[in-house]
Amino acid sequence: MKQKNSKGEALKFSGKWDLAPAPESTDHIEIKKEYQLFINGKFYKPSSGKYFPSINPANEKHLSMIAEANEKDVDRAVKAARKAFDGTWSKISAKERGKYIYRIARLIQEKARELAVIESLDGGKPIREARDIDVPIAAAHFFYYAGWTDKLKYAFPNQSPKAVGVAGQVIPWNFPLMMAAWKIAPALATGNTVVLKPAETTSLTALKLAEIIQEADLPPGVVNIVTGAGATGAAIVNHSDVDKIAFTGSTGVGKVIMKAIAGTEKKSTMELGGKAANIIFEDAPLDQAVEGVINGIYFNQGHVCCAGSRLFIQESVYDVVLRKLKDRIQALVLGDPLDKNTDIGAINSKEQLATINKYLKIGQKEGADMFQLSCDIPKKGFWCPPTLFTNVSQSHAIAKEEIFGPVLAVQTFRTIDEVITKANNTPFGLSAGVWTDKGSKIFNLTSQMRAGVVWANTYNKFDPTSPFGGYKESGHGREGGLHGLLPYLNI
Ligand code: NAP
Ligand code: MG
Repeated sequence: MKQKNSKGEALKFSGKWDLAPAPESTDHIEIKKEYQLFINGKFYKPSSGKYFPSINPANEKHLSMIAEANEKDVDRAVKAARKAFDGTWSKISAKERGKYIYRIARLIQEKARELAVIESLDGGKPIREARDIDVPIAAAHFFYYAGWTDKLKYAFPNQSPKAVGVAGQVIPWNFPLMMAAWKIAPALATGNTVVLKPAETTSLTALKLAEIIQEADLPPGVVNIVTGAGATGAAIVNHSDVDKIAFTGSTGVGKVIMKAIAGTEKKSTMELGGKAANIIFEDAPLDQAVEGVINGIYFNQGHVCCAGSRLFIQESVYDVVLRKLKDRIQALVLGDPLDKNTDIGAINSKEQLATINKYLKIGQKEGADMFQLSCDIPKKGFWCPPTLFTNVSQSHAIAKEEIFGPVLAVQTFRTIDEVITKANNTPFGLSAGVWTDKGSKIFNLTSQMRAGVVWANTYNKFDPTSPFGGYKESGHGREGGLHGLLPYLNI
């Protein structure tokens, strides 16, 4: 059934197309009324008896109640992880450990459809993304790291690598299952045990993963999943028996955590915010570049740490690129995340939408020109149409600060040195993109960019074999690849 506007016309969620609805069915998706804490292989009620709701941000409908873990629950989880580390996980052979991790990977694949639908319902992302990116990459991470378990001595020859112990892991809401996989897979492969906290608005797939871990028959306490808000995360960070903190989230919270663990023995990896530059040279394949820019910033509603939120266009092709970009934005489809035609889903929460809207106001106040997809916005839920700002200068807040929404700030440049200086003029350094026909230009630019990942003639490509991580205020340490094993080992 199509929604209608006040004149009785069908709502139009794209500037160009009027597609028939094609929603994914939710009939055989099981979401429990209430979820408990996963500690020592079992599900326990929180000691405070407190629960918080999880909603679907696309229609504000209630999905489930999630247990809130306090310090006492976190302590119980850490004790379970320590006991599992000393008692079982560090005793079994590396090959056996690998078998468990493979089992998790296969179960994720088996339940891929269910996980994708739940990810879309709980977080607001388009089903196409959850199905084609989040879930396959999560499975790929477990497969990849399962392969490393019995090869650590070849990865670090003559260095007798040893597991660190208990890893405390805190993750954000933009790629809930995928972030859990990025954290848990390398920790288990290297022989550590885990206490993980998902983000408050998107706990459901982490709890489904807890069920998978139970089904995979992992020894109790090897993986513990405790839900809750920031205070639960802080309880993990501050627990004296946690050996390593792996955090992905905002630079602000990252700084709080670094202060909290300063002077302790805890190791840390921090995957924080970003403000990536996407750079188009006049010799680039322009249509391909425009597609890459759209993917770079509007993918997952811009809820991506490495989103290409600053676009630099060489002056000679500025007019043509801008026209192509605006045309492409008008063809994006915003609406029901469960519809396979949807490009732009819901903003993850009311709070995040307020933050984005604050920046839209600031951008206009500072004198930039705003362009948005003109379409109908669903009446319920949290929505922001894809937005582009031109007439932007380096000092504008929308060019400096991470917005974490579908908002692109466009600037121009004349020379390669100018664009390198402008692109590096940021406290962040997570990622960047470059579009050009010339290999020499790619090498020149990538070697001078202060960013952990630089994509050339593509954007937002992830693979478990490639290390990912930032410079400067985007954090330290790497996840993925051989480099991703290191933070979980004492060498
Ligand atoms: P956030 O507010 O920093 O929250 C991240 C996680 O930390 C959540 O689980 C949060 O719990 C928890 N938390 C909050 N306060 C805490 C505290 N004092 N101690 C310990 N944990 C605490 O970030 P977010 O808004 O969820 O995510 C967006 C940010 O993540 C963006 O800045 C983005 O760039 C960054 N990010 C970076 C990467 C990367 O690889 N570099 C990847 C993805 C996202 P609650 O959710 O309950 O508040
Ligand atoms: Mg939710």
